[in-house]
Amino acid sequence: MFENNDGDHNAKRPLIFYVVIVTTIVLLLNAFIFPTMMARQIQVVGYSDFLTWVDAGRVSEVSLEQEADQIIFVATNDQGQEELYKTAVFPDDGLITRLQNAGVRFSASIPTQNNTLLSFVFSWILPIAIFWGLGHLLSNQLTKRMGGGMNALSFGKANAKIVADKETGVTFADVAGEEEAKDALKEIVDFLEHPDKYAGIGAKLPKGALLVGPPGTGKTLLAKAVAGEAKVPFFSISGSEFVEMFVGMGAAKVRDLFKQANEKAPCIVFIDEIDTIGKKRDGAGAIGGNDEREQTLNQLLTEMDGFDGKKGVVILAATNRPESLDPALLRPGRFDRRVPVELPDLQGREAILRVHAKNVKCESGIDLKEIARATSGASGADLANIINEAALRAVRLGRSEVSQGDLMESVETVIAGYQRKNAVMSENEKRIVSYHEIGHALVAAMQTHSAPVTKITIIPRTSGALGYTMQVDEDEHYLMSREELLNKIVTLTGGQAAEQLIFHSITTGASNDIEKATKLARGMITRYGMGEFGMVAMETVTNQYLGGDTSLACSPAYSEKIDDQVVSLVKQARSKADQILRENEAKLHELAAFLLKQETITGEEFMRILNAQPEETVLA
Ligand code: ADP
Ligand code: MG
Ligand code: ZN
Repeated sequence: MFENNDGDHNAKRPLIFYVVIVTTIVLLLNAFIFPTMMARQIQVVGYSDFLTWVDAGRVSEVSLEQEADQIIFVATNDQGQEELYKTAVFPDDGLITRLQNAGVRFSASIPTQNNTLLSFVFSWILPIAIFWGLGHLLSNQLTKRMGGGMNALSFGKANAKIVADKETGVTFADVAGEEEAKDALKEIVDFLEHPDKYAGIGAKLPKGALLVGPPGTGKTLLAKAVAGEAKVPFFSISGSEFVEMFVGMGAAKVRDLFKQANEKAPCIVFIDEIDTIGKKRDGAGAIGGNDEREQTLNQLLTEMDGFDGKKGVVILAATNRPESLDPALLRPGRFDRRVPVELPDLQGREAILRVHAKNVKCESGIDLKEIARATSGASGADLANIINEAALRAVRLGRSEVSQGDLMESVETVIAGYQRKNAVMSENEKRIVSYHEIGHALVAAMQTHSAPVTKITIIPRTSGALGYTMQVDEDEHYLMSREELLNKIVTLTGGQAAEQLIFHSITTGASNDIEKATKLARGMITRYGMGEFGMVAMETVTNQYLGGDTSLACSPAYSEKIDDQVVSLVKQARSKADQILRENEAKLHELAAFLLKQETITGEEFMRILNAQPEETVLA
């Protein structure tokens, strides 16, 4: 997951850190600074002066400090104010009589007198001021982090972001594609705009809707758009924000969030990445189990049950791991409505590109459909990134408008990693990569069902792939036939097949191909019913939106058989690729030589060379 928080790690320090610092400072001040500041200044005078002052009646109290060999006394100074003085002890037998005669009170010690105002300032006002100041500083940091209004020292309050209507500024027009999701959410918008209409009939709208889909498909954007369309306040909080503070804070935050929302109704409460708090609770109570998270989740469930659905508080939540959510969250009356937000199809991609292209200056005659066709599988966030990368490239090259070339280049940048222009590849390596890539393309082209190749390049990418064959499907399709899958596996083995055929040795360059081919072959056998076992599920998908992890659902005996079948399927595919390349070895040489020279070859160039008659080439 790509976290996009700002890098201010100071703000991430736990509250306890600041409390410890403040306490330490106050303790140190109390121990060392305050006592000396509060102790009255003691002036030293000579013994004879002391006696003179006693006789003159200026001394009111005397204390004999025997251990310190000194006399401390209180006398009025020239301004008539009482002050502390001290003098050294002098052997003087007549002192006591003298003091008695002068009417001076005397003792063995004298309590240190404090200036009451000063001590009040130091022991009360200053510490409070320090606490207040630090609290203020801290809360400012928190507010900055949470991005919304939070008062000083209101640690127990939720830091839900309150965005005014105009600030959300997002409408459904900003969300391209995703028509089904928008339709599902339009009802909620209508409900927020006219709650009476629904209340009149007695209809209760679902309290919550859960937006589910892969990362970057616009879930957060859609939630904002709902608030923007309905022109209601938008409380947004991320699941991870609930968990990060003190124990008990998460639950307090939930409580507070709903309190605020009830006051501001109609409004939307949006909980992003709800899976961080809404994970399945494990009843076993694992050691050090996450009590905090469970408390927060329980509080959320309680609040969702507790509030009045007619009031107009709608809770939206987003997640890309719906299967990990606690079933209690999905029960009717909670997030009972699920809104799938899928990766965009061809039309959707074009629409998203159009939305984002509006924000940059483009040359006339830009063909966004071509970009959309080249970006099968890209998310909305990827597409937004492509447009931005294209604009950056235009600036880099000193142009004021984005060209089609910029867009095509940034497709490759975003999809396949940045070009490593300065990466050095030896001539021999280049030759191998050329044959490898042409191997894929040639095998693909010789099989009717495989997608035609539009562009092949041997310029290395940082993503790790050395060469990169961009395959574009003419039409989007959701179903793949058995033949298409087989052809795809054959195509994937074509790279290494070409290396073997030409160089009689193979390299590590095929690791990615191998991974993909294995995955496809395995899927055919265990999930699509295209293997020997027929329509029996040998594996189940556990992580639909994050790469589609699978877990075995069969006995170890079958597991072994599956492996055998996968191996033989891929082996068959490989021998088919070998055969195709052997039959077309002349074309393989011709195409690879062209690619080696040009570094890139377009689909048309490829097909022209492939379809050229040998005689023509000889004649030409
Ligand atoms: P998610 O929350 O699903 O991970 P976001 O809503 O944060 O994705 O999307 C990230 C960015 O991608 C958005 O800010 C927007 O620029 C772009 N984007 C994603 N989907 C779309 C879409 N359907 N239409 C327009 N822009 C989109
Ligand atoms: Mg999001
Ligand atoms: Zn390959």
